[in-house]
Order: sequence, then structure tokens, then C-alpha cells
Amino acid sequence: MKQYKVGVIGATGMVGQRFLTILENHPNFTVAALAASGRSAGKTYEQAVGSRWAMTVPMPEKYKDMIVLDAENDVEKIASAVDFVFCAVNLSKDETKALELKYAKAECPVMSNNSANRFTDDVPMIIPEINPEHAAVIEAQRKRLGTKRGFISVKSNCSLQSYVPALYPLDREFGVKDVLVCTYQAISGAGKTFERWPEMIDNVNPYIGGEEEKSEREPLKIWGQVKDGKIELSHRPNFTAQCLRVPVSDGHMAAVFVRFEKKPTKEQILSVWQSFEGKPQQLKLPTAPEHFIHYYEENDMPQTKLCRDLDKGMAIHVGRLREDSQYDYKFVCLSHNTLRGAAGGAVLMAELLCEEGYIDNKE
Ligand code: NAP
Repeated sequence: MKQYKVGVIGATGMVGQRFLTILENHPNFTVAALAASGRSAGKTYEQAVGSRWAMTVPMPEKYKDMIVLDAENDVEKIASAVDFVFCAVNLSKDETKALELKYAKAECPVMSNNSANRFTDDVPMIIPEINPEHAAVIEAQRKRLGTKRGFISVKSNCSLQSYVPALYPLDREFGVKDVLVCTYQAISGAGKTFERWPEMIDNVNPYIGGEEEKSEREPLKIWGQVKDGKIELSHRPNFTAQCLRVPVSDGHMAAVFVRFEKKPTKEQILSVWQSFEGKPQQLKLPTAPEHFIHYYEENDMPQTKLCRDLDKGMAIHVGRLREDSQYDYKFVCLSHNTLRGAAGGAVLMAELLCEEGYIDNKE
């Protein structure tokens, strides 16, 4: 892979911080611009973040003295300094769409963690191991935007990155018909730590605004087909979801119940999970987990604290596969919500798009 200069928009936030810890030692991506709101612009990164640093590792030295730019007013300056940007901002849907469009129109590809463009039909929503072929719509998107380089690509919501990777390869073999899923989601998914959200200590909150709709609907785009420069949503499988916030720092867990068209044996399911790999593994992308789906035979695994960071925090952990009295099978999945589910997933998507020729370096 070539060398690329990248920007991080929303660099001071929870996901932005995660981007910087992943990119600190990245072999191909060098951070050349940091941006956030006007409140942070003009300050050094260290001053702008202040007491909000939420990572368990210290703030990387090399970013501390970089001056934070204004994400909305310094678009041209940022676009000319980098080959593409990562974007994770806390703005309304319309404001986010307008901001991402500005960068794309300035010929700067956008790797987005935001939900605003997830259902724009010529914007790919990519889980690199699962639907890399959706990148084909980028050409049509560029035509619509009138750009040569600029486009937007998004990653999906963090909740579904635990159960969709386990279900997708099973669907290809046995046809997945109905899925019932309950998610148990970490507080970092709300951009919070226990210091900033003490009410969540010793507590479970049964409501995460908008999360159940995303968990049921976004898989249908992942399952979608590229047709005439757009992604046509799939009408299947049927998903129903309940999403709970639990007192965990990082790592979203999901309890899954599934009904198949053609019920497989337990051994067949395990064999599909064991052998499944995607383009990131074949291309040996730097942020790819060596093994995508890790299955655990122990009854008390996977556990959030023990498993979330394994294989760069990018693997999917699955356990407790057994037959169910109402559905065919049930099992439990886990993924790291700010690594695989957010910043890591976007870095892996960018690596894939660079390697596949969708992003060139300007040198
Ligand atoms: P966060 O911690 O609240 O950070 C928000 C970031 O947005 C900060 O850098 C903030 O800059 C910036 N921002 C706010 N207003 C802005 C403006 N007017 N112009 C430019 N930048 C502005 O939020 P987060 O948890 O990192 O989430 C960011 C995005 O990622 C959201 O869309 C969220 O839904 C998505 N996401 C989060 C997760 C997760 O696990 N946390 C997972 C997937 C997706 P200042 O510091 O200057 O205010």
C-alpha cells in the first residue's frame, strides 16, 4: 500500500481520540490535520481535549502540539493538506450531511463514522470482510457530485458489528430467515466514560434513542445489491432488536436467536465461522484481524473484558451456540464498539479503498 496523509474531523471526541491512538503507528497513514468545532479551533490538541481524554493509553506525544483546525471553516485548507479524512462529529443529520458533502466536493474522500449518509443510496456502507463489492457505487456517486476524487463512504452502526458478521456467512450457506437480537451496549458508544456518566455505574438503561431502528434496518443495506450505481436494500432477513445500555466501558454484546431456511447442524455452523475470511485477511490489510470470527467452546465466553481487545480489537467473538426451542439456534456475539465498531472499522475500510484503487495519494 502507498503512503497517505489523512485528516481527522472530530478529533477531540471519543471516536476521534480512538482514531489517533490507532493511527499513531499506522504503517501507511500519517495524520496531517486535526479538526473539531470552532470551540476547539486554534488551540493545541492537548488544550482542546483538556480533561476529556478518555483512552486508557496516554495521548500520543506527536499530536499534543498540533493546532486544531475548524472543521466547518477550514475545509479547503484541510482538503489540500491531506489525501482523505476520517469524520466522527456530533452534529445534527442535516449539518453532518452538509459537512461531509463539503469535503467530498473539495475532492477529499470522507471515511465517515456518522449515521447521516448511511441511507444515501450511492454511498457505500462497508464492513470490509462482508460487502467490499458495494464500493462499486463510488463511481456513480462521483458522477452525481461532479467530483474526480471526492466521495463519501460510511461504516455501519456499532451495535450490528457483533451479530451481522456472524450471520452473513451463515446466510450464504443456509439462508437466514428470522433474527431476534438483544444488544448489551457499552457506555463509550454514547461517547461517555464512567467519570462523565456516573449514573450508569450499577445501572442498566433500557433505551438507546434510535438504536433499535438502526440495528434492524442497517443490515438490509449490508445485505443489499449494487444495481444501476445504487445499493438496493434487501427485503430479508427479518430483524427485530432490543438495545440496552449496560455498565461496561467498551464492548457491545448481542444475544442472537436465528431461524434458517435450511436448518444446519451445529458442526456446519462452526465450520462456516471457522473458515470465513474476507478481503482484509486475503489482502493482509494492516488493521485486519488475523482471524475474523473467534468461536469459544467455554460456556462463560466470550466475556467483554477478556475478549474485546484481542486481535487488535477488530475480531468478532462468538460463543454459546446451541439449539433453541422456538428459533433454530441461539448464540452470543461480542465486538469492540469503538475499535471494530467505530474508528478501527473506518480505518480498515480506508485501507481497503486505498488498496482497491478508490483513493489515490496526490503525490
Ligand atoms: P463526541 O465524543 O461527543 O465528539 C464529538 C466531536 O464532534 C468532537 O470532536 C466535537 O468537537 C465535534 N463537533 C461538535 N460540533 C462540531 C461542529 N459544529 N463542527 C465540527 N465538529 C464538531 O462524539 P463521539 O462519540 O466521538 O461520536 C462522534 C460520531 O461518531 C457521532 O456521529 C456518533 O454517532 C458516531 N459514532 C460513535 C460511536 C461510539 O462508539 N462512540 C460508534 C459509532 C459511531 P469539540 O470538541 O470542538 O466540541
